[in-house]
Amino acid sequence: MSDCIFCKIIAKEIPATLLYEDDYVLVFMDSGPIIKGHALVIPKHHYDLITETPDAILVQLHSTAKRIATAQMNGLGADGVNIMQNNGAAAGQEVPHIHVHVIPRFIGDGHHWNWNPRTYDDLDERAKLAEKIKNHL
Ligand code: 5GP
Ligand code: ZN
Repeated sequence: MSDCIFCKIIAKEIPATLLYEDDYVLVFMDSGPIIKGHALVIPKHHYDLITETPDAILVQLHSTAKRIATAQMNGLGADGVNIMQNNGAAAGQEVPHIHVHVIPRFIGDGHHWNWNPRTYDDLDERAKLAEKIKNHL
């Protein structure tokens, strides 16, 4: 995709601080880190969403994310790691080239996800939504 910023990073047309590269994936530092050390794992082939990405590539992305998380813990002393992956503008995806966020976390780092659990009206509503999902598995 000629207008994709991550494809341009893969093509070395724009600079990035690289962490790892192989035939399938590229890993680089996020330029706007949630926490310093935040990395992005991307496939070298452009796919927009997880729903379009072949399973074999997802395996490469997530096994690499595991390696990066381990390196953040051992190299940065991270106490934990958030692995995140946004799909679609509604989910907060700003760059439409699938990527896995690997975010090192430290006790007391001050970051809090805006995670406000909601409740279902009743168990029937929950069950009906579950049916709608199950019908497409
Ligand atoms: P999204 O919101 O799509 O899940 O995340 C996109 C991420 O890409 C953001 O965390 C943002 O900081 C990062 N990002 C956007 N443009 C660039 C760039 O040109 N270089 C780097 N290294 N990261 C970028
Ligand atoms: Zn791309």
